[in-house]
Amino acid sequence: MPPARPRRTGNQGRVGTRCARMMAMRDQYGRPLTDLRVSLTDRCNLRCVYCMPEDGIDFRPPAELLQDDELVLLVEIAAELGVSKVRLTGGEPTVRPRIVELVRRVGAIPGITDLALTTNGLLLEMLARPLAAAGLTRVNVSLDTLDAAKFRRITRGGDVGRVLAGIRAAEAAGLGPIKLNAVVVRGFNEDEVVALAALTLDRPWEVRFIEVMPFGTVADVADAGIVSSAETMATIEAALGRLEPLDLTGDAPARTYRLPGAEGRLGFISPVSEPFCAKCGRIRLTADGRLRLCLLRDDEADLLGPLRAGASRDEMKMRFRAAAYRRPFGHALAEKLYPEKRVMIQIGG
Ligand code: SAM
Ligand code: SF4
Repeated sequence: MPPARPRRTGNQGRVGTRCARMMAMRDQYGRPLTDLRVSLTDRCNLRCVYCMPEDGIDFRPPAELLQDDELVLLVEIAAELGVSKVRLTGGEPTVRPRIVELVRRVGAIPGITDLALTTNGLLLEMLARPLAAAGLTRVNVSLDTLDAAKFRRITRGGDVGRVLAGIRAAEAAGLGPIKLNAVVVRGFNEDEVVALAALTLDRPWEVRFIEVMPFGTVADVADAGIVSSAETMATIEAALGRLEPLDLTGDAPARTYRLPGAEGRLGFISPVSEPFCAKCGRIRLTADGRLRLCLLRDDEADLLGPLRAGASRDEMKMRFRAAAYRRPFGHALAEKLYPEKRVMIQIGG
């Protein structure tokens, strides 16, 4: 049940404060919106089982995707509305042409203080250094298993050796702290969580275990495969020792812990078993120019259409703010209401 909407005070958005969260636009439930995820493409060089259906998806023709100038303009508007953190994602963002130049342009937008990238890591060995030089601050690399055969099965053909080389390159380029994202899927990699967690024993990385979420045509993978964070934690504790809590506030999606004597930390992201909607301050811009108001609901607002129809910057800003304001409170996975129109590769995680 969503909480009552806060009363508008009349001076929202005009009061100068020290804190970016206070300055940010808010949604109808009063949540400050400081984080924007921008999908650079709906294409990918992998085909993970939980992210796209086996028979593929209909990719949008490139002309129907946000072009570089359009994307930069929308991020500028978001920054004017109080967004300070941008994460580039996809599909696989590193397959977007001119990504280094795009990173330079987005990183130079006034108000953007944190520019991160979520990637499968396949192209990082080549791109880490130029991306860091262009202003990228951090990377999250997806890595569900260290086992080459299991990796091929989950990603439908990927080479885990290239991902590991990419992670090393990112670390050498200063794109830390390195975060690794592992989606845990029963029957694919639930027996890999101990090996992944053990990476943090002697490396200052954060390995984050994510519950698999159900999307339209891949919902069967999630329905059959959900492994709760509680189960993953129990498996890790049984093998590697008691987890020391670090941050359980829920201010970030991951609750974080440390293994005994470890250099790095573990994160658990539990959108299914322990939703964090009440504190979610994220909005997503899809590669085809729609604001996705909640990851796990189909509600979207088209921005590219009005932009190409000649809307002024002020009008685009008004549309952006109005769409963000009407964000739904959260998902309804518990009632088995799954997003139907897109799968993750078409949204950006
Ligand atoms: N290609 C990049 C990558 O794999 O990191 C970025 C895009 S991918 C859609 C972003 C994140 O979403 C990845 O960490 C991926 O594992 C995660 N993801 C994809 N489908 C998911 C699902 N059904 N449930 C949970 N996480 C998912
Ligand atoms: Fe591609 Fe990332 Fe989706 Fe895997 S999770 S198919 S790498 S977009």
